[in-house]
Parts: sequence; structure tokens; C-alpha cells
Amino acid sequence: MNRLRETSSVALRLHNTLTGAKEEFEPLEHGHVRMYTCGPTVWNYAHVGNLRAFLFYDLVRRHLRVSGYRVTHVMNLTDIDDRILDQAMHAGKTIADYVKPYAEAFFEDMAALRAERAEHYPPATEHIPEMVDMISTLIEHENAYVADGDVYFRIDSFPKYGQLSHLDRAGLKAGARVATDKYEKESVSDFALWKKAQPGDEKLGAAWDAPFGRGRPGWHIECSAMSKRYLGDTLDIHAGGVDLMFPHHENEIAQSEAANHKTFARVWLHSEHLADATGEKMSKSAGGFTTLRDLTAAGHDPLAVRFFLIANAHYRSRLRLSAEALHAAAEQVRRLREFADRLARTTPASADDGDLAERTAEVRAGYREALDDDLNLPQGVGLVFDHVREANAALDAGRVGPLNKASMQAMIDDLDAHLDVIRAEEPGLADEVERLIAEREAARRERDFGRADRIRDDLRGRGIALEDSKDGVRWRRISPTEAGRS
Ligand SMILES: [Zn+2]
Repeated sequence: MNRLRETSSVALRLHNTLTGAKEEFEPLEHGHVRMYTCGPTVWNYAHVGNLRAFLFYDLVRRHLRVSGYRVTHVMNLTDIDDRILDQAMHAGKTIADYVKPYAEAFFEDMAALRAERAEHYPPATEHIPEMVDMISTLIEHENAYVADGDVYFRIDSFPKYGQLSHLDRAGLKAGARVATDKYEKESVSDFALWKKAQPGDEKLGAAWDAPFGRGRPGWHIECSAMSKRYLGDTLDIHAGGVDLMFPHHENEIAQSEAANHKTFARVWLHSEHLADATGEKMSKSAGGFTTLRDLTAAGHDPLAVRFFLIANAHYRSRLRLSAEALHAAAEQVRRLREFADRLARTTPASADDGDLAERTAEVRAGYREALDDDLNLPQGVGLVFDHVREANAALDAGRVGPLNKASMQAMIDDLDAHLDVIRAEEPGLADEVERLIAEREAARRERDFGRADRIRDDLRGRGIALEDSKDGVRWRRISPTEAGRS
């Protein structure tokens, strides 16, 4: 697994929001990375903007693993918050019953997008005791106070507040968002750790006992309590969407460091917004609610969506979602697959091409360097595409020798360790195609040419073209435009 690391002099560098600089990454424990990432609030289907952040987490974890690290990755499921309470009440369900299908849908989306599974997905409602413990500690340390059954974090007790988002505290207070805070607080920017149980909460299954009164946790405390439970006081990496930086991540730092008296997270990574075609941040309130289900219903392949979300822009750049961009991503995926298929089928020439070998080695090293440079996957993918053009010309000319073939296949493996769209097939696709080819051959032997043609046309409609050759029937993937021509 550490094969590349040994031959590479470039160390992994990540842009740490905390310092505003790219830093060489080294975990606290040799060879093991503890990573926490903010997960979905399962009140509805995940918005494609959130999916961008979730697939960014996947890219981080994959590159850490490619770099030879063992990764313990925790992603929380927020299964209690104000929106969930509202929706459950309207639906006449407990919060547990209300969120269940959305939690399942989240895992389905992640699987369709080929995100690797995290080691832990703790749901907030299963970790209330850990949250109550941490809140009790914060009250003991006088970082928190009880006001009419609610518990608030006292921001004045934590002088480092604002260090992550680089906001000055005076500005924070003046600009603090207080619209949802209708409670008795010492200061407008103090935030809720615990909310007193309201009359309807019992029926919804949304109230728990605590020494400071019956109620339910605020959102911020769940990440501090659950990361401590699974990863300890200090994380190597904490990642999230940029919209979570303030106040959520500032609040996590304040809670954890005031409770544990240890650095909470050593490296903070933030992925940028997904924008709609007009460049506006996509959000539900702006009417831009798009889920993976919406996109697949419109005919987009989840793997093209994956490629678009992780490879079309660097994670710290804005990315615009449009049908054209998704079609272009699908075409890029198809070209990579076609190249991989063609390479696999190639019978190597007797001799290797020295220039081609040198170029392939350069591209592989450049790809690795791009990923090590703050996960610049788009740059790495660009290098590979340039080389694919060159390699196709070499294949046309029969200049690809056995070592050429092997090193280019290794290049595709390097790429697919992050992309995971090239060798990923519809499960069972290859077997099904082979079975249909055999059926078509049988039909032809029986001179049932109508049936043989139907099989060929059906496959073509699914983006598979059949070619008769002296070695029998071969198949290859074709673009939707090519499939439309007959
Ligand atoms: Zn969080």
C-alpha cells in the first residue's frame, strides 16, 4: 500500500483553515489518522451541495489510505434538531420513526456515489449520556450556565473564540445571528448546549433526563461529545463544508477545548460551496433543492455525478452544477473507461517504446504530486487525460510494449484509487453482456436475425456496442450520442 510513498520525496500537504496555510501533514500517532467529519442532518434527502462535502471527505480518506495511513473516520448522523422536531410533529411520528427512511437514503446515496464507508456513523440520539457528561463538565468549569432550564456556553469564558474563522470577537457579537435564540442568555452570542423539554417533545421521543433538567441537546455539542467518544480529545483532521466553519466549528472548538483542556483538531479542512448555474450557492431556501434522486431521475449516472463533484474543481474552489457540466463529466468517465478497456484488450508489441515509458512515469509522478499538494485531483486528472491522448496514438501505431501496457494500467489504478469510476461497473454488467452476446450468437445460428438484432440494439441503447472480430464478438462502451446514431 505504501509503494508510492517510498518512491516519492513529496510529502502530503494540506491547507489548514486554522493557520490559513498549506502544511505538511503528520498524524499524532505514527501511521494512524483520526478524522472527524460533520455528517448529514437526516430530516430529508441529502442536498447535492452536502454530497459535495461528503465526497470530499471520501477523497481525503482515500488519499490518506493511498499514502499508507490507517484511517479511523467518524461521521455523525444528526437525528435530532428543530427541523426534525417540526417535521415529525406534522407527520405525527416520533423523531426516530421520522428520520429512519432518510438515514437509510443517506447510506444508499453514499453507496451509489461509491463513497468508502467510514469506520463509525454515530447517531446523536444514541450518545446523549456523552453529551450530558460534557455539558456537566462545562458547567463545572464555569464555561456554561443554566438559564431557565436551558444550558448555554459562555463565549466570554473562551478567549480563543473566533480563531478558526478569523473573525474578531467584537464583530462576532455585533453580527451574531440571534434569530433562533429566544432564550434568556447572558450575551447574544452565547449558544445553546441543552434545550429545556417543551410540552410536545415527550410524545416525539425527543426528551432526556439530565442533572440540569429534562431536555434535548443542541446541535454543536453532539460533534464535540461523539468525536471524543470515538477518537479521543485531539483529532488529526476535522473536515466540513465551509458553511459550517462559523458558528458550528467555532462552537465545537470552544466546547471541546474548554471541557478537555487539549487542542481539539490539529488540521481543519473546509470544502467550498456548490453553486447553481447562475453562480449562487445552492440551498433549499433559494429553491435549489436538488438531491441525487432528482439527478438520477433526470438520467444522470451517479458515477458521473461523483466525477463532477470531486474532479471538476479543487475542493476549495466553487463548483457550478449544470446539466452540461454533468454530461461533460459523463463523457470524461466514458473516455477513461474506454481507454482502460482498450489497454486491457491490447496484445503488446514485442518491444517497449522508451519515450512513452518515460512520459508515463512522469505522468504518474505528477499525478501523485498533484494529490499530495492539497488534494489537487483536477490537476492530476488533467495530466492523465493529456497522456491518454498520447497513449491512444501509440496504441493506434502498435507502439505499446508489455512494460508500457503495465505502467499505463498502473496509472489507471492510481487514478481509480481516488476516482473509483473507471473499474466500477454496474454490478454484474460484464457477465450480463457476455450472456447476451452468447444469446445473440445462438439466435444467429438459428437464423433468428430479428432477435439477434434486437439484442444488439438493446445493448447499444445501454451504451454498449458489439463488434465482430476474428476472435469472436467484442464489446466496448460508447457515448450517448454515438448510441443514438444507428
Ligand atoms: Zn459538526
